Amino acid sequence: MIIVHEPAEVARAATGPITFVPTMGALHAGHASLVSLAAAGSGTVVVSVFVNPSQFGPGEDFGRYPRDLAADARLAERAGADILFAPTVETVYPVGFATTVDPGPIAMDLCGRTRPGHFAGVATVVTRLYGLVQPQRAIFGRKDYQQLVVLRQTAVDLALGVDVVGAPTVRDADGLALSSRNAFLSSDERSRALALPACLAAIAAAHHAGERDGTHLEAVGREHLAGLAVEYLELRAADRLGPWTPDRLGVALVAARVGTTRLIDNILLDPAQPGSALASAFPKEPS
Ligand code: AMP
Repeated sequence: MIIVHEPAEVARAATGPITFVPTMGALHAGHASLVSLAAAGSGTVVVSVFVNPSQFGPGEDFGRYPRDLAADARLAERAGADILFAPTVETVYPVGFATTVDPGPIAMDLCGRTRPGHFAGVATVVTRLYGLVQPQRAIFGRKDYQQLVVLRQTAVDLALGVDVVGAPTVRDADGLALSSRNAFLSSDERSRALALPACLAAIAAAHHAGERDGTHLEAVGREHLAGLAVEYLELRAADRLGPWTPDRLGVALVAARVGTTRLIDNILLDPAQPGSALASAFPKEPS
């Protein structure tokens, strides 16, 4: 694997179609799973590490976001990356950069309600990175489900020529979804954070048992969130996050603050293949 900072170096080193895994670094086994999935295909695997200032709001954790390029390079290489692309802020946002990609109403929903500008920041940087890296395929985690939906829409709406692929969420043995932000949790907070996967597992179990009333499914999950600062717990249609009806693939999404750390998680609810346990309750997402 080579580490490069300029897009021209990516173009020089790549052979065949490029599969791209954009990240903000602080890589963990969740990111590694995306890179392994990318490496299972042919061509070149490019992983980017760029902590994008424009997707953090005022008072969010941009300043304290963990950064360790050497550790990221080791993990990316082990997982099968060919090129680690670590551009500077000036490369991604050169003087005069003025364009914003606005994903429309979905950017104001769910996480967008408390993070105005976040999804425009994500859509803009990812579109810009596509331009710099020129991938045919890009892989994103379902862990950030709304982000995946936004980026699918952006790729289709703007005919970017990039096939957007969603990959399953990787969890710790106790069910907590891996996240770079878990590093901010004290051991007490980490225990309390287990309420998120417990809530989703309860919803999946109730769905498995035949419960199809969305309000009731949400209530079942909410019982596990007592004591947390819950931002939202909602059931939506999995394709575009519109209203859910029981005949459709659904997704239960939760966002909550544990101490000062904001965590999100979700679980898919497949009417044809209802899951019973967290590990097996993540059916294939719609494409
Ligand atoms: P981030 O660096 O947190 O912006 O994430 C980069 C990519 O890794 C995004 O596509 C995330 O959805 C994905 N990702 C983060 N955590 C996980 C996880 N636990 N399992 C799978 N993918 C993940």
